[in-house]
Amino acid sequence: MTDAAKKETFSFQTEVGQLLDIVAGSLYSNREVFLRELVSNASDACDKLRYEALTNPSIVEGDQEFAINLEINKKAKTLSVSDNGIGLNHDDLLETLGTIAKSGTSAFLEHLKEDKKEGLGLIGQFGVGFYSAFMVAERVDVLTRKAGEKESWLWSSDGKGEFSIEGGDRSGRGTTVTLHLKKDAKEFLEDARIRHVVKTYSDHIGFPITLGDDALNEASAIWTRSPKEITDEQHTEFYHHTAHAFDKPWLTIHNKVEGVVSYTNLLYVPSTQPFDLYDAERKGHVKLYVNKVFITEDAKDLLPAYLRFLRGIIDSEDLSLNVSREMLQTDPKLAKIRSGITKRVVSELKKKATKTPGEYADFWKNFGAVLKEGLVEDVPLRDKLLEVCRFSSTADSGLISLSAYTERMKDGQDAIYYIAGDDAEKISRSPHLEGFKAKGVEVLLLSDSVDEFWLQHIPQFEEKTFKSVTRGAADLDSIGGGDPEEKSDEAEVPGVSDLIASIKLELGEAVKDVRVSKRLTDSPVCLIADEGDMDVNLERLLKRHGQLQDSMPRILEINPNHEIVKKLSKRAGADGAASDSLLNDAAHLLFDQARIAEGEAPVDASEFGRRLSAVLQSAL
Ligand code: ADP
Ligand code: MG
Repeated sequence: MTDAAKKETFSFQTEVGQLLDIVAGSLYSNREVFLRELVSNASDACDKLRYEALTNPSIVEGDQEFAINLEINKKAKTLSVSDNGIGLNHDDLLETLGTIAKSGTSAFLEHLKEDKKEGLGLIGQFGVGFYSAFMVAERVDVLTRKAGEKESWLWSSDGKGEFSIEGGDRSGRGTTVTLHLKKDAKEFLEDARIRHVVKTYSDHIGFPITLGDDALNEASAIWTRSPKEITDEQHTEFYHHTAHAFDKPWLTIHNKVEGVVSYTNLLYVPSTQPFDLYDAERKGHVKLYVNKVFITEDAKDLLPAYLRFLRGIIDSEDLSLNVSREMLQTDPKLAKIRSGITKRVVSELKKKATKTPGEYADFWKNFGAVLKEGLVEDVPLRDKLLEVCRFSSTADSGLISLSAYTERMKDGQDAIYYIAGDDAEKISRSPHLEGFKAKGVEVLLLSDSVDEFWLQHIPQFEEKTFKSVTRGAADLDSIGGGDPEEKSDEAEVPGVSDLIASIKLELGEAVKDVRVSKRLTDSPVCLIADEGDMDVNLERLLKRHGQLQDSMPRILEINPNHEIVKKLSKRAGADGAASDSLLNDAAHLLFDQARIAEGEAPVDASEFGRRLSAVLQSAL
């Protein structure tokens, strides 16, 4: 291909262009992070080739010592980062450095709009770290040759909308990224500055990084070191590198397990939510190594999906190196590793939950809803998982465990009460809670959608049944010894059974039943799902996901102690009640009021308006 040597020019894909405008024009004070990104890419390139060489040893030819070399040329005012990793060919260059938008680019642009300063530090997290070179360089050259191929290529750009590719003259495999430094970035021509930056951000890199003849890092995989020797800073750097994250690890779990299958795990729980946490794929990001050789970041089933927030690595000498990724994934030894690590993680979480509940609450806010997926999916570990679950409740004493709930249950209380809905704030103000609050009976407030699903699978905890306060009868009378004075039933409120009969007649099929409530103290009415029916929130959830068409008719409960209900009862018991149109309007209005309290619309908005006016008119 003689054409290949010719220079071709391409435009950056629009989003990349926008990104470059921001990056190049930024006055970001931490722009030294560009070096972290380039070294990280060089290290990734060496990892990729080392993996290729497992099945194709000839690809590394005579050059088996992977290394990353930095070079400063004061005269030419350039800094270069070279590696002898996998390299890029013409198509790779087109795909990775310019034209195709990676999903990260637009997410990153969004992020930058919100917070330019912070945002630039995060550039690597969004898979666009390479472009950070333009923070310090007015031109970037990438001279590269793919392992196993003969031709080499020179990619070049000033970051202003276009880049070029032409034939290059590189003898060995790998990549050299040369930065022609901007006038105000000459500090990166100083040895000491470069050493410091590498020490700060890249010390954990498993390949030697050299500047001239000097090695700048330890170049041993961090997880092979003794846990005592690793500082918090080193953990943070490694976590940043391996997870493409920039927060601090909330928890570090580093241990070596010797047994039928031996392995080392160095895992991190992030302190913020990764942006793909709720993606439908529920992808894990823990990297699998076999004897220090990087294998894959997407080993399927390496860890359960409900631990997908974990970052870090798992390394085992007992897995076979000379098989494909796919075959490795079916190795039964992996299942052993998975179950060992899963148990370890859950027990570490339990330690944190017990020892530092305040810190655990931070974890729970980020990842509680994800961990609860395990209640459904991991039957053998269910009990252990329940122990580390935390809940808000009407007692308002922060997050509590289920055992804390059962310990303070009232005398005579035999159920764990909960209310479920999407909005924690809204459900905490639900009328259904009134009677429970008045009696001091604690109710769990469940606002994650996963709650409805694990509740289907786990009917009880410590032999106490989970019971929704929006379904079935509220047996509040038997709790806390009961207070007969406070109790009210139909007999004590004159005419209430007449009122119930008249509402039933008026609403017909729209309600399943009308009855006196034991759970209301302040509101006149509420809607309840019947004992055997689906709970209100679950029904709402299924309808939203198109898995259910129609709603079940509910039970309308009325509060006999409410002034409105008392007065209506009196009218319903009086002569001539049958022709009292106000009673009919009131029946519909009460029903609509109960619906509105659930966040639903009145049955018929114009009828609602007409009735409201009629009732107001008669009152005025
Ligand atoms: P990320 O590293 O998250 O993929 P980058 O913007 O840092 O994002 O790099 C983009 C891509 O460019 C890399 O995924 C890789 O395919 C390619 N690349 C960058 N630097 C190198 C290199 N030194 N050797 C080989 N490929 C590289
Ligand atoms: Mg990168």
